[in-house]
Amino acid sequence: MYFLCYDVGGIDIKMGIVSENGEIIGKKIFPTDATRTPIEIISDMLHRARLLINEVNMQKSDISAIGIGLPGLADNNSGTAIFCPNIFWHDVPIRDYIKMEYDMPIFMLNDATIAAIAEHKTGACKGARNSITITLGTGLGGGFVIDDKVYEGSFGGGGEIGHMTIVPNGKPCNCGNKGCFEVYGSVSALIKSATNAATIHTDSMLAACMKDAPLTGKDIIDCAKAGDATALDVFRLYTYYLSVGITSLINIFDPDIIAIGGGLANAGDFLLSQISIEPNKRRVFNMLPPVKIVRAMHSNDAGIIGAAMLCAQKLHDNSNKLSQCN
Ligand SMILES: [Zn+2]
Repeated sequence: MYFLCYDVGGIDIKMGIVSENGEIIGKKIFPTDATRTPIEIISDMLHRARLLINEVNMQKSDISAIGIGLPGLADNNSGTAIFCPNIFWHDVPIRDYIKMEYDMPIFMLNDATIAAIAEHKTGACKGARNSITITLGTGLGGGFVIDDKVYEGSFGGGGEIGHMTIVPNGKPCNCGNKGCFEVYGSVSALIKSATNAATIHTDSMLAACMKDAPLTGKDIIDCAKAGDATALDVFRLYTYYLSVGITSLINIFDPDIIAIGGGLANAGDFLLSQISIEPNKRRVFNMLPPVKIVRAMHSNDAGIIGAAMLCAQKLHDNSNKLSQCN
């Protein structure tokens, strides 16, 4: 089986034809241009799908389903993108629009949840029963696969770990709440606190790094690795907050494995060893085998591979339901 898959982002849209095993037959990337209306964007997505299907010498009838990852709240039950702030979508009935051209099953979920499916089925968490994928970037996203099935929540809002409170009355978050995990654990949070520290410690390596250009996550990791005391302090506090959030996730979900994705995961063992020790020490049942905390495997293709795995899972579930009815 082959699926037409989309990973809709604020800047660009990745599109691919992907097999049920996660093999990418063909893919394209094109700008989202979020100034366009949702109908204009969706029409563009469908136009480019026609070209891609031709390019890989397939027919529309070769496609069994369509999977879509959306940057926000996506309700698969109603087929609606409820709220995607980056692309200014509110209550967009995306399934109805696509159905006009593709009368086939169409599935959608939040992009971080879709990335979690990709890691679970074909990536770093392959073979696990329960896994969590955490993406560290501008924000902090996550997704859960429980008993081999993706957890969506009742309305598609499950897995928003970036907005669990880890510091009551802490720093304000874009969501309107205070003390969210994202405000302490995202790469933006790391850059913010490193920039503040470099402004105070003007003789630090971190401050020297900031002279020509704003700090990046990589700069901070590089300075910490080189032993700069200011960068190390910032990094230790950052990993402490990450560990606090991860401990709660371990206590609630008792997963086999946690995959860490996003650009900061490139720091490898330097980051992973810091955020593996503390959560396993702090977890309530610390006599259990330690939860493996590893680097996510998929990078840019996680969205389209995860969307294909979502299609395969949903079609399988639907055929099971039908056979139970008969
Ligand atoms: Zn928040």
